[in-house]
Amino acid sequence: MSASAATFDLLVVGGGINGAGIARDAAGRGLSVLLVERDDLASATSSQSTKLIHGGLRYLEHYEFRLVGEALAEREVMLSIAPHLVEPLAFVLPHEPHLRPAWMIRAGLFLYDRLGGRMSLPRSSGVRLDGSRWGAGLQPRFRKGFVYADARVDDARLVVANAMSARAHGATVRTRTRFVSARREAGVWRATIEGAGGREEVTARAIVNAGGPWVAEVLGSTDAPPSGASVRHVKGSHIVVPRVHDEEHAYILQNSDQRIVFVIPYLERYSLIGTTDVPVDDWAAPRISDDEIDYLLALANGYLAKPLARSDIVWSYSGVRPLHDDGSSNPSAVTRDYLLKVEATEGPPGPGRAPVLSIYGGKITTYRKLAEAALADLAPYFPGLKPAWTATEALPGGDLPKGDRAALLASLCARYPAIPVDLLRPLARRHGTLAASVLGDASRPEDLGEAFGGGLTEREIAYLVGHEWAREPEDVLWRRTKCALPMTQGEREHAAARIRALATRA
Ligand SMILES: Cc1cc2nc3c(=O)[nH]c(=O)nc-3n(C[C@H](O)[C@H](O)[C@H](O)COP(=O)(O)OP(=O)(O)OC[C@H]3O[C@@H](n4cnc5c(N)ncnc54)[C@H](O)[C@@H]3O)c2cc1C
Repeated sequence: MSASAATFDLLVVGGGINGAGIARDAAGRGLSVLLVERDDLASATSSQSTKLIHGGLRYLEHYEFRLVGEALAEREVMLSIAPHLVEPLAFVLPHEPHLRPAWMIRAGLFLYDRLGGRMSLPRSSGVRLDGSRWGAGLQPRFRKGFVYADARVDDARLVVANAMSARAHGATVRTRTRFVSARREAGVWRATIEGAGGREEVTARAIVNAGGPWVAEVLGSTDAPPSGASVRHVKGSHIVVPRVHDEEHAYILQNSDQRIVFVIPYLERYSLIGTTDVPVDDWAAPRISDDEIDYLLALANGYLAKPLARSDIVWSYSGVRPLHDDGSSNPSAVTRDYLLKVEATEGPPGPGRAPVLSIYGGKITTYRKLAEAALADLAPYFPGLKPAWTATEALPGGDLPKGDRAALLASLCARYPAIPVDLLRPLARRHGTLAASVLGDASRPEDLGEAFGGGLTEREIAYLVGHEWAREPEDVLWRRTKCALPMTQGEREHAAARIRALATRA
């Protein structure tokens, strides 16, 4: 059935983490949902983050206790519903007495260990850095530090997993489909959307505006009045360099401007360094600036034993935080909390009032809680809405044997003995238990079709096109996988041609 032939309960605009998370939650509660994303899923902010599922240690300095507590509790939920995409990560904070005194850091970590309630991750502690693995790659002047636990995520794949779950619960997900405008008519929304086949009209009882940085533009395309809330666009950039040490932990580095920057082990062979915080007016297509590169390199080189040069940078990316504007003058101090604004036709909330709910701010870490809050706000308009459910059902691929990545890899190795473990490991990391759906009946590496480099095979491309809405080379090479990173330019172009050919046939 085409989208236009039906009336939907909910039209979700935007296929970032918030739109995908709300579509999943709403579909599982029995609403009929249409999600439209004008580009690819996670093509904007939700693939350009620091990729942490964290409470945000530094937000304690801004007294954001509720936000940090909620995010820490959510970290536990994410570790259990998406253990293939979210994994614990130890962070080492080298001590710099002139920047933050030890008592202050200890007090912050004491709170961080406890604010989220019962935690499965280890508690923080003081550690020696000189002569120990905790100081790997650092200058020998760093003798003491602190270690604490947090988690990291494959951000783009988390969005895709939510969209897949939404679809499994009955939602319609349409990428490369732009929300053009909507008007209220007889208690419902008549919306115009535009995809490859041209413009069409759909009807929806409610709209969720999850346009991220474009939240104001999306709302402005409806006949609802402005919400009164506004967004601050703050750019953040990252650089990727060859791995700066062989250990598993990340560093959290302090700067004299009070900002902090992470150095995170990334994939097998790289380190991810970021982020900056730069207010921007021109935010639609963010790119790293020379100043940001200099800032990140100078900060890292203040700590690393082997200095990094521009020529070490193998990749960089930038994103724009759509922060809820709380009036702070310092971009690092603007709240990372979210604000939901509902506007509906006059009268008590109820069916036939055509509400539009707009999302301001937020974090990947708390997207699921944000979705629950959105559904709570929409509940009066949908009597009979089922209760919250997303905290316990694993995301697609997340039902790991014993909740354990190693056990999954072992079972894949046993089932596919002739496929090299170096091919199975990244497949398990990307797809969890659905790796078996990618591999299917393959018994030898040749059965996976052509190998394009970086661990990408023809069979995985076909799976991403057939099951995960991948259409363009970028969707496969840089979002659903990061296989492009180790590829040569020639390999990327060759893979791109194959992706286009397979997508055309889909
Ligand atoms: C540099 C940086 C680092 C970050 N690090 C972290 C971190 O480590 N941990 C964490 O928890 N959070 C982090 N965040 C925050 C997090 O990434 C964002 O809060 C989150 O991704 C926002 O998701 P979203 O769905 O609201 O927006 P987006 O991901 O931007 O999605 C909005 C979508 O709406 C679509 N859209 C817009 N207009 C239309 C239209 N007219 N029709 C159809 N579609 C439309 C866009 O194409 C886009 O895909 C970071 C953010 C940045 C920028």
